[in-house]
Amino acid sequence: MINSPAYRNILAKAQEYNVLLIVVSKNQSIEDIQILYNLGQRDFGENRATELLTKYEALPKDIRWHMIGHLQSNKAKYIAPFIHLVHSVDSVGLASEIDKQAKKNSRIIPCLLQVRIAQEENKYGISQDKVIETLSVVKNLKNISIRGLMGIATNTKEAGQITSEFHNLKILKDQLIEIKMLHADSQLSIGMSSDWQIALIEGATILRIGSLLFNSVEK
Ligand SMILES: *Cc1c(COP(=O)(O)O)cnc(C)c1O
Repeated sequence: MINSPAYRNILAKAQEYNVLLIVVSKNQSIEDIQILYNLGQRDFGENRATELLTKYEALPKDIRWHMIGHLQSNKAKYIAPFIHLVHSVDSVGLASEIDKQAKKNSRIIPCLLQVRIAQEENKYGISQDKVIETLSVVKNLKNISIRGLMGIATNTKEAGQITSEFHNLKILKDQLIEIKMLHADSQLSIGMSSDWQIALIEGATILRIGSLLFNSVEK
């Protein structure tokens, strides 16, 4: 079930900050996505390629689908024909495979580099000191276009830690723009249900919000 007041509240905030709100619809039904679509929502995020493909096939074709979860290289082909933005490029190998599948579909796929910012043992994301090295290789791929950075903060209640993790990623983005490794209008995809307010203050251009927008309990 959709939490409409939460959706309206976050959408209004996103618009106030001129930020894109992605509704993370993983584990949510086609019906609920359709309801949000009818309210005008067009950007949805999923973390599994196969679930994303199923939903793409069932829903209106003007939805902009975002791949936000870890993508196995062998699954890139499922989403390559239509994916709007891949947020989770975390290796040269994955970037090369997306590039190859994009070429097969005669398109250029926009991508973000996922950078590891959390202190906890996060499995995915490029470490901050490898970002320049990765970018310099990936920039040569003709059928993907790197549009910015994505990060997931530590799952903690300590706002100070989340703030500094987002802040570090914003500084990294600004430095990469400075040395022309990223375009000036590059994206910063940070902020989930628990930390989106911090992300807005720290320079998010894209929010990825799921659980806050859906009620799992029946009233
Ligand atoms: C699930 C998920 C989100 C949304 O998380 P919520 O806490 O439900 O808002 C955002 N980003 C990624 C990468 C996710 O996997």
